Formats: sequence, structure tokens, C-alpha cells
Amino acid sequence: MLDAGRHDRQRLVAGFGGPAQDRLRQASVLVAGCGALGCTVADLVVRAGVGRVVIVDRDVVEPSNLQRQTLFAQADLGVPKALAARARLQTIDPSARIEAWVDSIERESIDDYLDGIDLVFDGFDAMEPRYLLNDACVRDGRPWVYCAAIATQARAMLVHAGGPCLRCVWPDAPPTGALGTCDSAGVLGSSIAIAAGASVSLGLPILAGMPPTVPALVSIDTAQGSWRSISVARDPACPCCVGRRFDWLEGASGAATAVLCGRHAVQVRPAVAAVLDQAGWLARLAPSGSFTAGEGLVRGTLDPSRCGGAALELTVFMDGRAIVHGTTDPAVAAAVCERVLGG
Ligand SMILES: [Zn+2]
Repeated sequence: MLDAGRHDRQRLVAGFGGPAQDRLRQASVLVAGCGALGCTVADLVVRAGVGRVVIVDRDVVEPSNLQRQTLFAQADLGVPKALAARARLQTIDPSARIEAWVDSIERESIDDYLDGIDLVFDGFDAMEPRYLLNDACVRDGRPWVYCAAIATQARAMLVHAGGPCLRCVWPDAPPTGALGTCDSAGVLGSSIAIAAGASVSLGLPILAGMPPTVPALVSIDTAQGSWRSISVARDPACPCCVGRRFDWLEGASGAATAVLCGRHAVQVRPAVAAVLDQAGWLARLAPSGSFTAGEGLVRGTLDPSRCGGAALELTVFMDGRAIVHGTTDPAVAAAVCERVLGG
């Protein structure tokens, strides 16, 4: 049979022989977001023999993605990422069950996508959806792997039942503007590969039936030449994994959107007030379009290539509240803010 020997080299690795490969074939994973991190993670898990891979992503492939989003090629420009990823992955292993959904993962929909999933790989490009994912996974005792990359930095951490969760490490989402985004600070394809590789290295053994690794945040900065494993422990005061309070899932935390009637605009109020001044906002937004400062605000036009080709204008107030003009879709507005404002 054509497929014979496909996983031979993997089976030779301690823990991946015998029934482990069958466990991988029976496993279901969710790749939450299929940008750069999700592409590399999905490629690795399908090649490793995971039987069912569910991909959820709301965006379409843009030219600036091709530098690092390894499942996509020139011919995929304009195609929804989830669909392009599925097509590519199906050519890699036609026997794998690849499910693709063109959608964002929201409070209302996350449980649909988690149904039957053994482990979740984080492919998000912002912090806030990670808190939602953390809530849902901790609630269910479902393992997930935090994964992030920006500029020359890469991070990954396994969250599993009984271990520390995201909120043990970072109790609250960062203020809007506190962190850069790949749209403002850039990212190297190599940082993505390292972060995604670390993520799959932490998650795949769980799916193969091995015990979780000692809780740690893997943190790599290639510019500094530093590769660190930082010990993390459960915080006895953690509201999530200890207190069993799921603020993001229940809507007590998180950005709030409101359609502004008659203005063809959506207001996005951040979960945590912003920390940037006008100069900071102008610098943050410069790569995303043409912006000027006004009284207590910064406003301008977004480069269409930064928002899926749409013609959008953005007004940002000093507390991080933003109005996205040119759409009435709260999900589009929230996505734009996550990408260009950072958080
Ligand atoms: Zn916790």
C-alpha cells in the first residue's frame, strides 16, 4: 500500500512506537486560527498522523501572509485560509479527516468547535481569544497549547488539567496597545517555525498517550540567542483554574462591540483600558495605514491589504476605545482592532 512506512521514522522515537501511532490516528485536534502559527502546527500534526484536524479561521489569504504561512501559495490569494489549508493538508495525507470552518471563535461558538476535540493548538494572533480558549479548556479539563510569536520571539506553554493555566501566568489580558502585533512589530518566519514546533512538541506526546511535561513556559528570542524554559506553577489565587470562574466565557471580561446605528460603523471597547499616548498610537498604527492625531484621538484610513481588501477607517481614543467605520459587522471590527491595535 502506498502509505506503508509513512510514520516509520516517528515510530522509532521513544513513546511514539507501538500503540502510540494508533492513538494519534484516533485523535482529534482543533487548530484555533490558521495564520502563520496555525499553518505550521496543522502541517506538523497532519504529517505526524493525527486522524482528525479541525481548522477554524475567519480570514482570507493576503500577499503579506506568504512570507510565513507555509500552507499557502500565490494561487491561494483571496481564498479563505481554512479552505486553502484544508486543500493543501488533504494532498499531504488524503486519509486524514480535515474539517475547515470559515469563522472566528467566539463565546457563542467555541463549544461547537470543541466538541469531540482531544487537544487544542492556539493559532491566534491576539491575547484575548486565548483567554476565552483557556476558560473553555480549563472548564472541561481539555489540554491546550498556548503559542505565540512576534518579531524574533517565540513562546509556547502546555495547559492541562491539574496544571497551571494561562491566568496563573498572566491573570488578566494586557491593556490594549500594551503588546505589539505582527502588523506593527513584524515577525520572522523562523520565529513562527520555532513557536509552532515547540507547541507541537508539547502537544503531540499527550495525544500519543504520554504524560504531560513539567509545567513551563518555553521562551525563545533568536535575536538574543536565548532559549529558556521558565518554570510556572498554579497560582492558588487563580480565578480560573482554582476559583472555577470563567470570566471570558461568561462575558464578564473581553472586548465589547456595539453597532453604531446609522453610521455604518462599529465601536469596539477593549477589555482593559489602553496604555498608549497619541504618539504611541501613531507609531503603532503607522504600518497599518495613514493616521493623524486629533483632539484626544487618532484617526485615519486603514490600508485595505490590512483588512481583507475592505475600505475601513479607524478612530482610536486614548483609552483604547475604537470606532471602525465602513462595516456593520462586529466580528470584522473586532478582528481589525485585534490586528492593528494589539493587546
Ligand atoms: Zn490558573
